[in-house]
Amino acid sequence: MPELPEVETVRRGLQPVMEGARLLKVEVRRADLRVPFPPRFARRLTGRTVTGLGRRGKYLAADLDDGTVLVIHLGMSGSFRVEANGGVRRAGITYRAIGKDAAHDHVVFHMSSGVRVVFNDPRRFGLMDLVPRSELPHSRHFRAMGVEPLGNAFDAARLAERVAGRKAPIKAALLDQRLIAGLGNIYACEALWRARVSPKRAAGSLATKTGKPTAAAGRLAEAIRSVLEEAIGAGGSSLRDHMRTDGELGEFQHAFAVYDREGEPCRRHGCRGTVTTIVQSGRTTFYCPRCQR
Ligand SMILES: [Zn+2]
Repeated sequence: MPELPEVETVRRGLQPVMEGARLLKVEVRRADLRVPFPPRFARRLTGRTVTGLGRRGKYLAADLDDGTVLVIHLGMSGSFRVEANGGVRRAGITYRAIGKDAAHDHVVFHMSSGVRVVFNDPRRFGLMDLVPRSELPHSRHFRAMGVEPLGNAFDAARLAERVAGRKAPIKAALLDQRLIAGLGNIYACEALWRARVSPKRAAGSLATKTGKPTAAAGRLAEAIRSVLEEAIGAGGSSLRDHMRTDGELGEFQHAFAVYDREGEPCRRHGCRGTVTTIVQSGRTTFYCPRCQR
């Protein structure tokens, strides 16, 4: 499933062709994805201008000029590709189709910028919804969502406050979107390794009795921010078929320290540990038992 860096990469790919452009025509080729499309979905979008394309956690949020927001989640296998006639190159994006089965093209946005933005989702766990801007923070998508890890409000103190008193392993807490938004299995594993924190540690152990951040909380907050920023800089991680909207592959998977490296040597200088796996909350955790405490 795409995590925050992959969704942010998709947002940056779509922004130049969607922001400021009008939706001339919208094709919706089925009644639902994970849930039904909202009533009269295509009709409500047609003629609207996208005034801004933002992101919250793993969701895209396109502001429209009538005060509604088009909320999009990519689910397990959703992707966008940007098409233009003749594969025209413009605004730094190579417009060429990702080699994907057109049978899974479920929504097509015909933009006044001259491109077609095509949503392809073979497994149909994606989601699209329309929510009035004023109700967005209280919508079912965002009301329980935790702090944005790249936002100004996120730091060691906020992390400690979020995990204080929690007996669940810190790895599970990092995956809980109600605490911190946008982290998934890959970046939770990588951030814990960077911070030298064991994934098995109780989440609450990162806060003192009075709820202040420990040194480990300070390292982890910094690691979360740095791993997400570096991954965004690399265009996200490409696993199986996660592709950028311009068809190029994200490259952060080459920088993984632990994820997908079971049995290989730990990459920390001076550590002779071996990357090991355990299953936590049904997900495989990759970590180094020697330097992560
Ligand atoms: Zn190690």
